[in-house]
Amino acid sequence: MSPSASSPATGESTGAAWLERYTGSLLNVFGTPQRVLVRGSGSRVWDADGGEYLDLLGGIAVNVLGHAHPLLTSVVASQQATLGHISNFFTSPTQVALAERLLALAGAPEGSRVFFANSGTEAVEAALKLARRAGNSADPVRPTVVALEQGFHGRTMGALSLTHKAAYREPFAPLPGGVTHIPAGDLAALRAAITDETAALVLEPIQGEAGVLPLPPGYLREARRLTLEAGALLIIDEVQTGVGRTGRWFAFQHEPDFMPDAVTLAKGLGGGFPIGALITFGPAVSDLLGPGQHGSTFGGNPVATAAGLATLHVIESDDLLGNAARMGERLRAGLAAVPGVTEVRGRGLLIGFDLDADTPDGTGAGLAPAVVTAALEAGFIINAPGPRTIRLAPALLLTAEEADSFVAALPGLLDAARAAIAGTASSAGTASSTGTGRTEPAQE
Ligand SMILES: *Cc1c(COP(=O)(O)O)cnc(C)c1O
Repeated sequence: MSPSASSPATGESTGAAWLERYTGSLLNVFGTPQRVLVRGSGSRVWDADGGEYLDLLGGIAVNVLGHAHPLLTSVVASQQATLGHISNFFTSPTQVALAERLLALAGAPEGSRVFFANSGTEAVEAALKLARRAGNSADPVRPTVVALEQGFHGRTMGALSLTHKAAYREPFAPLPGGVTHIPAGDLAALRAAITDETAALVLEPIQGEAGVLPLPPGYLREARRLTLEAGALLIIDEVQTGVGRTGRWFAFQHEPDFMPDAVTLAKGLGGGFPIGALITFGPAVSDLLGPGQHGSTFGGNPVATAAGLATLHVIESDDLLGNAARMGERLRAGLAAVPGVTEVRGRGLLIGFDLDADTPDGTGAGLAPAVVTAALEAGFIINAPGPRTIRLAPALLLTAEEADSFVAALPGLLDAARAAIAGTASSAGTASSTGTGRTEPAQE
């Protein structure tokens, strides 16, 4: 049953053979994959040529329990062997139990509800439809949804209308209208933007894709005050920050006595099994979407919701919230002491750090993509969301030894990256074969 790569006999590595077939068969939206991965266990993965890596990206903040977690694996297998898919003409115990569990963890009041989707962008689509219902049922109608500059909310057309980056949006114009982007963290801009025309404000508590940029202290609280006063919804996109990533179940829970109107979840929720969710807080918000107004064939199926339950169970029973907080502190302290690291950001195990971008080739292409390449060669998976920024989003069960091994390796990785850039620059005009100096296409 297991597929094999053609012609290792030609002398090519197995990975190279798979990559050639990838290029001939996959739509080219991700660029060339960095490696062909075949196996994982805990925070480690192995490639098709036997290379071993410490996975500090976790499938982009997804694999909260690492790879091949035994409980998650057995729950998914036994649920699939019992009842796999049923459609939303029916429900199942795992669907109901996961909804109840999420409401309890979110501290959601009576009358709160959950909608299940299959991904982050779909959770955001549901949130945007909720915002439109809020706007269209107001008198007079509220036509505007406010989102933040640098915000990332997904790639489908509705979610893309909230996503800010021009390179993601412009090729697909026209997008659904009515979205206004304001500078993130700017309280004056926020006060000016939230009016009686506003249906909803949508924001990430920490902007992950933008390079792990937290909102300034007090911003969320002011956003809550202004939206309540204006009668607009506050929708928090926790697709990346939710499910324990920041050391709390939800990042909004770092604010005392704080309740949003809706929260989107996905990435970590199934521990790697695809699932997304929208939580609506209180009856008034939950009643905005009624029968027939939204749906999903796969959403909330027994296997995905069993995966969600197993994931939340392990996070709780193994104190992975505490571990995320502790390992995050440890990593941030270690990283901040590395020469060449200019700023360290984030919370729990969502970490961004900036590098001194003075690369020897003077192109300004930035050091971070070269560091990603050097890290891979040294056995670490990390990510560069920007030319001088590295992001880490490892499994919440990361150990101190694993965290320390990366911090200890980083000075050497920076040297190797600088040397690779210098080498590329001195090989007069030849195209880079190392992948340095190129920003990876974003993968989310
Ligand atoms: C990744 C991400 C999304 C999109 O999730 P997909 O599962 O890739 O569709 C939306 N919002 C945020 C904040 C994200 O980080």
